[in-house]
Amino acid sequence: MSAPECDLLVVGLGPGGGAAAAAAAAAGLGVVAIDRKREIGVPVQCAEFIPLPLSRHAMAPGVLEQRISGMTSMLPSGAAVDTPFSGLMVDRAAFDRALAAAAAAAGAAVQAATSLVALDADAGIARLRASDGESMLRYRVLVAADGPHSTVARLLGLPALRTVNTRQYTVPLLQPFDDTDIWLSPDYPGGYAWLFPKGGNANLGLGMDPRACSDMKTPLDRLHRALVAEGRVGADILARTGGAIPVGGLRDTLVADRVLFIGDAAGLTHPVTGAGISAAVASGEAAAAAAQAWIGGDSAALAAYAEDMVDQFGESLQRAVARRAELMRIRGTPDFADDAAHRRGWIAFDDYYRAPVLI
Ligand SMILES: Cc1cc2nc3c(=O)[nH]c(=O)nc-3n(C[C@H](O)[C@H](O)[C@H](O)COP(=O)(O)OP(=O)(O)OC[C@H]3O[C@@H](n4cnc5c(N)ncnc54)[C@H](O)[C@@H]3O)c2cc1C
Repeated sequence: MSAPECDLLVVGLGPGGGAAAAAAAAAGLGVVAIDRKREIGVPVQCAEFIPLPLSRHAMAPGVLEQRISGMTSMLPSGAAVDTPFSGLMVDRAAFDRALAAAAAAAGAAVQAATSLVALDADAGIARLRASDGESMLRYRVLVAADGPHSTVARLLGLPALRTVNTRQYTVPLLQPFDDTDIWLSPDYPGGYAWLFPKGGNANLGLGMDPRACSDMKTPLDRLHRALVAEGRVGADILARTGGAIPVGGLRDTLVADRVLFIGDAAGLTHPVTGAGISAAVASGEAAAAAAQAWIGGDSAALAAYAEDMVDQFGESLQRAVARRAELMRIRGTPDFADDAAHRRGWIAFDDYYRAPVLI
């Protein structure tokens, strides 16, 4: 018996996969979209900030939590610099669920608790595993939306992406505000610490380069205690999370064997800020359009997707990779505690954009 067929198989239903599946199904493709999670969006591994242009995806009930209007960046000297920073805090599980629901409403077959476990890329056949056993699915195009440790990349023999680790607590917020606080410090090499308010709570977390440090609990607990002492947050830890963030920039191979990589799986996450929801959604929608065009007979459409990603994101990602590398090079020297180095390494400062990018 031959395997069932679809136009587009989307592996992963984070924001990238959800957006790809919704756009492709709305365009009339036969879409199967799977995620290995039992419940889409759970557990949340995110600080839950989205930039304003994504607000069209924050309108579903239960998604929007609060607005953010500014950023306070704390430098190693203790100097605090305020800059405008507009965006929204969302319930990330609801955000991902809403995209998957939009895909299902547009006609996609959305399957949670279903993993991709093997791939015959030449034949375009995927082996999927669900609670009721394994099945084969034939696809015309596959969108790899399966995050920083992409199974699809591994199955195609492509290299793993370089990542940083993160750790985050959700804590009660005792002094509500609508800014995000950022700490740049030699204590967080290759990363930074954040406090994102979310209604009555806040996401307090940090990211660090695993080459520089494996213990993130000690510095996060120290920051948490300091904020409790200042009366800004409560001592209770309401939720704990963490996860990997790609920091090496764009994957060398964005398209291979009718497979399009998007979002974190493509290395589209910003290596300095760790923000990746917006790029995941944009790349998901672009991949859906490319798949539709390719299936419609435009043989150059898949390669054009890769060029489009490089054009849209390449320069910004390259700068971020270079800025991280500059900071990692001076780690352990007195310059690493210098405000000027961190001004060059953080997006809130003009120096970040103006200083030459040395690759
Ligand atoms: C602690 C933390 C805080 C962050 N905060 C922010 C923030 O505030 N704002 C922001 O913009 N970005 C943030 N990010 C980054 C952001 O979460 C990611 O960039 C974004 O989730 C990428 O979306 P995606 O769809 O590419 O991948 P993901 O959201 O990682 O989704 C991948 C999906 O693929 C599924 N999957 C994996 N393998 C398989 C398989 N074999 N079969 C089936 N399914 C599979 C997974 O279950 C997962 O649901 C943060 C990341 C972390 C770790």
